[in-house]
Amino acid sequence: MKIGIIGGGIVGSSLYRILSERHEVKVFDASIKTQFPTLIHSLLLKGCDIELASLSLQFYNKYRIKRMDFTSYTLGEVSDDLVSSWREHGVSARETYVDWIGEKAIEAKGGDSLVDIRNLVSVPKEKAKVEISTGEKKATVKANGKDVTEDFDIFVLTAGSWNSNIIDERLPLKPYYCWASLMKGHRRELDKFIVYDYVLGFYSRPAIGIGSPLFIAGDGDIIEMKPPEDGNMRKPEIKDRELVISRIRRRFESRSIYVSGNFCEGTPDMRPLYGRLKDNLYLVGGLNGYGAEVGPGMAMLLEMMIDKGEERKSYILDRFNGIKDFDLGREPHEL
Ligand SMILES: Cc1cc2nc3c(=O)[nH]c(=O)nc-3n(C[C@H](O)[C@H](O)[C@H](O)COP(=O)(O)OP(=O)(O)OC[C@H]3O[C@@H](n4cnc5c(N)ncnc54)[C@H](O)[C@@H]3O)c2cc1C
Repeated sequence: MKIGIIGGGIVGSSLYRILSERHEVKVFDASIKTQFPTLIHSLLLKGCDIELASLSLQFYNKYRIKRMDFTSYTLGEVSDDLVSSWREHGVSARETYVDWIGEKAIEAKGGDSLVDIRNLVSVPKEKAKVEISTGEKKATVKANGKDVTEDFDIFVLTAGSWNSNIIDERLPLKPYYCWASLMKGHRRELDKFIVYDYVLGFYSRPAIGIGSPLFIAGDGDIIEMKPPEDGNMRKPEIKDRELVISRIRRRFESRSIYVSGNFCEGTPDMRPLYGRLKDNLYLVGGLNGYGAEVGPGMAMLLEMMIDKGEERKSYILDRFNGIKDFDLGREPHEL
């Protein structure tokens, strides 16, 4: 089949790698998003998301996407059942007192890594801004104004937070802004370990990964807003910025050097979705704050749908049939 992928971010690039084994695939990307160099992949999720993150891990290993493993510490109430499900997926987890944090935590090895996103998205792409208009059965796709509908058997829309900008149909997706801060402090462990602090409500991850004084931390409220069509980032007002930074500083003496953010996309239940929108158009979206954790897994599910007709009900698009409007909830990677 000839397949056109619209958006060459985490999902689009994963799909390119998987589908081009059996199909003729082209990725169209408007080059309006600057990806963060590395993002967390973690198996320390809940329910069926753990399986999805596990599929992503298989993808990273199969396509030799660079990753750096890190031990993580989870602070706060974590049920024994949840820890058991992490162990079932190969994570070695135990409760221990961590001197440099000054608290008991779940120490997890084999569950967390930083994925080299630039490596992941380095697939061949045609620079083009795509627009989709939909009829009852079929979608018409234009790339830089040129109608390319008949050049492909099917298209997959994977333009992340821009999905709703591109198509003339209402989707159960909403874009939002999310941010993190580069921090400098005394605890060099923070550049060697990942911390999920559910007591004070933030996460921290290495900035470089060598034990430098730098680390990255965040977990502010989501700010509902549309991404700019031209990609020129205009930072919104971040109302809880000082509050979140003060929570980080309460745990680890440090100062914020630079705050940076980008756009994410959520669904009514804050879990990703995939499915067929029109005879010639599929969609994968709603990866909110955990695209590197579950994105390649969603790409694998879509490949199974296209090539074998198999569906994973928990993530199927049809679960939102009839929902007209919704509010964004809490990100699902937070326990
Ligand atoms: C501050 C912050 C920290 C984060 N940390 C993590 C983390 O540690 N771990 C994690 O898993 N996730 C993290 N995320 C979330 C992650 O970045 C997203 O979930 C992920 O990027 C979504 O992937 P995607 O493939 O759906 O879309 P994207 O990666 O956003 O890709 C969309 C692509 O579509 C293209 N596009 C847009 N419009 C058009 C058009 N008209 N035509 C053609 N192409 C178009 C864009 O150029 C872009 O390349 C973080 C997000 C933020 C903002």
